[in-house]
Amino acid sequence: TVSTQSNGNIRMKFAERVENLPPYLFVGISQAIAAKKALGIEVISFGIGDPDMQTPAPVLDALVAGSKKAANHKYPETEGLPEFRARVAKFYDDRFGVKLDPATEVINLIGAKEGIAHAALCFIDPGDISISPDPAYPVYEIGTMFAGGTTHFVTLKEGNGYLVDFSDIPTDVAKKAKTLWINYPNNPTGAIAPLSFFDEAVKYCKEFDIALLHDAAYTEVTYDGYVAPSVLQAEGAMDIAMEFHSLSKTANMTGWRVGFASGNPDMVNALMRVKSNIDSGLSQANQEMGIAALDLPSEWIDDNNEVYQKRRDKVVSVLNEIGVPAVAPKGALYIWTPIPKGYSSAEFAKKLLDEVNVVVTPGNGYGPGGEGYIRLSLTIPDDQIDEGLRRLAQLRVNS
Ligand SMILES: *Cc1c(COP(=O)(O)O)cnc(C)c1O
Repeated sequence: TVSTQSNGNIRMKFAERVENLPPYLFVGISQAIAAKKALGIEVISFGIGDPDMQTPAPVLDALVAGSKKAANHKYPETEGLPEFRARVAKFYDDRFGVKLDPATEVINLIGAKEGIAHAALCFIDPGDISISPDPAYPVYEIGTMFAGGTTHFVTLKEGNGYLVDFSDIPTDVAKKAKTLWINYPNNPTGAIAPLSFFDEAVKYCKEFDIALLHDAAYTEVTYDGYVAPSVLQAEGAMDIAMEFHSLSKTANMTGWRVGFASGNPDMVNALMRVKSNIDSGLSQANQEMGIAALDLPSEWIDDNNEVYQKRRDKVVSVLNEIGVPAVAPKGALYIWTPIPKGYSSAEFAKKLLDEVNVVVTPGNGYGPGGEGYIRLSLTIPDDQIDEGLRRLAQLRVNS
């Protein structure tokens, strides 16, 4: 359907999936920052999770070298270079003790987000149900919606350590559901899951014949010596699970879009078939960057995480001083905290912006279960963190 706007231009009617898209979470925040800037006020933004530190030199060197190889000037294979997939299999073996066949159980991704969104096309037909945590990374729901399905949300409760409580899912929903999304270390809550939780998730999904999809973007971003497990370590996981990994947060590579999925070979193959009809994989030079990132010494990862850990401790301490009961997370890049009574998430975020020119993300941006919380990201430079905290310390919270 087309109609004519008053200015004479044709107004196109877009597909429902586009018309119904919620505004991107950070659009509102960007507008608020721009409005302050227009008044000559510099805001400090704890809003967006995008590492401020540089991609490490060996990874950039791999891009430069890779750009000069004639073979890399051509279409890549959708599933990725054999060398890349073999390096991912070695990572799983070294890091998790999980043996993967690189030929059939690993596929590369143009960032984990791409794979997460496209995974829905492998499992969800119009009218199908996906189960997603609430609050959550928004892409689980959007991917399902694009595939014509609907999402049943299961609230992550603070009292349950923000783990999915499977007894909260009605049996008739579980019987109909095609996919279950989980994500630990978790964005936005910073929660971690023990391997026993993954065992429980696998058992649950097997009982109801549900594809278990684990977003593992933060398994390498952890603190206080905590080592995160992979869902593929769980008993029987290779029968029904696929895990999505990203080098974006681990190695400051959001700009280079290197991710991978691994797990059950039929599930990996389905994703390969979907992707081969939509994209032609990740540029091979970028895959070579991915190999270099997986080759980084563990000390590099530790040092990078150490920077976030120091920021985490500073932020938590100032929040506690002003009456916000934040707790230091063991993983991911965020402080997720309940806000003082008497405010909604949006009201409290607005108070911070109005009174001290600090931007935080209102928790309800990650789903209704996030109401009553805010999220602060640790991915801003230390001098800005310090200035942001100096401002926060001046805040008067009525509690
Ligand atoms: C950042 C993030 C991703 C996206 O990773 P890319 O590889 O950059 O696409 C996926 N899941 C979660 C939970 C994230 O926070």
